[in-house]
Amino acid sequence: MGRRRKKYKKVVKRVRRIPKIFQCPNCGSRTLTIRFRKSEVEGMKKAVITCGACGLYYEMNVPEILEAVDVYGKFIDLFEEGSIELEFRKPEEEEIGSESA
Ligand SMILES: [Zn+2]
Repeated sequence: MGRRRKKYKKVVKRVRRIPKIFQCPNCGSRTLTIRFRKSEVEGMKKAVITCGACGLYYEMNVPEILEAVDVYGKFIDLFEEGSIELEFRKPEEEEIGSESA
């Protein structure tokens, strides 16, 4: 039927969109996200790094000009140095219910 069915394939716009999902250095999944929050320090912002797979959680203050990728780079450095204390927060409490002893 319809001839007017022009296939509008999803055009991949090459917008300079910096991906906000990175590979987690802890578990290796590509589920690491970096979000920014207001920092109480002037000229800084707070980067909140979380992994949806292993629950890794870390926050740090970074200069406001930094993008997520920059923060990621910094984070990886710190991670590899082992100079940061990581927290692990389960994004969802899935542990409930599965009591395998
Ligand atoms: Zn992870």
